[in-house]
Amino acid sequence: MLKTGQEHLASLRDGRRVYIGGELVDDVTRHPAFRNAAASFAMLYDQKAAPENRDIMSFEEDGEVFSAYFLMPRTQDDLVRRMETHRRIAEWSHGLLGRSPDHVASFVTGLAMMPAMFDLIRPGFGDNMVEYYKYMRANDIFATYTVLPPQGARKPELYERAGLKVPTLRVTDEDEAGVTLNGMKMLGTSAVFSNETWVGNLLPLAPDQLKESITCAVALNAPGVTMWSRKPFERYAVSEFDNPLTWRFDETDSMVIFEDVKVPWGKVFVHDNAEMSRGIYVQSPSHSMGNHQSNIRFLEKLKLLVGLAHKIVETNGVGHIPAVQGVLGQLAAHEATLEAMIQGQIQNFEVVVPGYVNVNRRYMYAALHWCTTMYSGICDTIRELMGGGPFQMPADISVLEDAGMRRMFEEYWSVPGQSAFDRMKLYKLAWDMLGSEFAGRHMQYEKFYAGPGFVVTNYSYLNAPWDDYDGLVDGILDSYDVPKDMKIRKPADG
Ligand SMILES: Cc1cc2nc3c(=O)[nH]c(=O)nc-3n(C[C@H](O)[C@H](O)[C@H](O)COP(=O)(O)OP(=O)(O)OC[C@H]3O[C@@H](n4cnc5c(N)ncnc54)[C@H](O)[C@@H]3O)c2cc1C
Repeated sequence: MLKTGQEHLASLRDGRRVYIGGELVDDVTRHPAFRNAAASFAMLYDQKAAPENRDIMSFEEDGEVFSAYFLMPRTQDDLVRRMETHRRIAEWSHGLLGRSPDHVASFVTGLAMMPAMFDLIRPGFGDNMVEYYKYMRANDIFATYTVLPPQGARKPELYERAGLKVPTLRVTDEDEAGVTLNGMKMLGTSAVFSNETWVGNLLPLAPDQLKESITCAVALNAPGVTMWSRKPFERYAVSEFDNPLTWRFDETDSMVIFEDVKVPWGKVFVHDNAEMSRGIYVQSPSHSMGNHQSNIRFLEKLKLLVGLAHKIVETNGVGHIPAVQGVLGQLAAHEATLEAMIQGQIQNFEVVVPGYVNVNRRYMYAALHWCTTMYSGICDTIRELMGGGPFQMPADISVLEDAGMRRMFEEYWSVPGQSAFDRMKLYKLAWDMLGSEFAGRHMQYEKFYAGPGFVVTNYSYLNAPWDDYDGLVDGILDSYDVPKDMKIRKPADG
């Protein structure tokens, strides 16, 4: 089924417990801290199902229609359909909703392509995985994931004292019905707008961390689940004009706490297996399918950044200067580089699971590394192009309420070919993208959403064809011997 936006909003009015500081939020779809972002997610559902998008963004199986991000790709054309689906979702949200509904759905689809891997963990877990995938796609479920332990969990001796609650999530009990979870996970981006959270571990566990290895799906209104949101920036956006992106696209991040949460066996996929808790993602197409979406999402954001840079230098009257054009050229080259890295993943696709096709993992990890390391530099470059422009603008749009001030503003702030109002509008948008608190969070997000930098780099290390590289060196080394007489030629010998 393809959910409508209204249906998605209705699904969030489900008794979930979301806290902003000490305030318990009544309804995330109506609360001033969240309602516009909730509407943005709803917009994605409506756009996806609109007649002009439906053909490419959905597929039919056994007479039912599902979102294309649940498509298990069997041909290169399927990969193109998935890519275009991610691209349109990212385009409508300018790449600012990192955990849009297609992200975790892609992880789950990649996992469900390998049920046998789960049966090796425990017989029956393969069926659980397939059934969960079918449940998600049949109901167009929006899931976030919480797959990292909180930073406070690093020193077990601090929390394993008797009587203290466990900070990192683990199984504390199990019976015929399922497992009981207690503890906390970071950091559920868009959790408050999601139906479920995928709980697991994207970073390796120690072999004895068996109870932490639990991998399962939990409804975000399940008894015992609470979400503690970080400061929601939407609430502090003074108007759409002043903070046009914060106003609509703060996807939020929340710590998710589980207190005696019961999870039925049918929603458990890994248990008591530290190695496979992480292994399932990298041994299957899951991790590459999910992060292919991240690459595409970043590209749409980069296009917006390049567009902003171009408009800003025009507004500043410096766009004709060759040195400035050189900077714009570098930005445009960055955008084309990433576009090519994404297209290459489809062009040189590979087979991971027989019968299916997969994006090229090495290219995907190269792009992931590129995005993670390039973002702050690109933003810094554009901030430099802005000069002091944002701070020459009045504090907010209320300056235009008074006719006298409005006239003064137009008189002093307009430049040839551009009104003061239009300049202010552009600078407010640019600052929201590059300098606001919302922008600062994006800086952190791009650094960490796929794990810390050293982990992201490690994916490229692990997937590199080192034997091939070594072979090139060996080929040269093997092509000659030590000279028999051990003599070397001297320059004077000619
Ligand atoms: C905005 C945002 C959104 C997020 N959304 C999600 C989400 O939706 N779901 C989810 O599960 N997680 C999410 N995360 C969590 C994210 O995956 C983690 O922040 C990330 O894995 C880093 O872990 P950490 O925060 O514990 O940092 P730490 O592990 O404490 O790292 C701190 C610093 O130390 C460095 N460091 C640590 N260990 C080493 C080492 N061995 N060698 C070299 N350097 C090291 C790190 O590189 C980093 O610079 C999000 C994070 C952010 C910032």
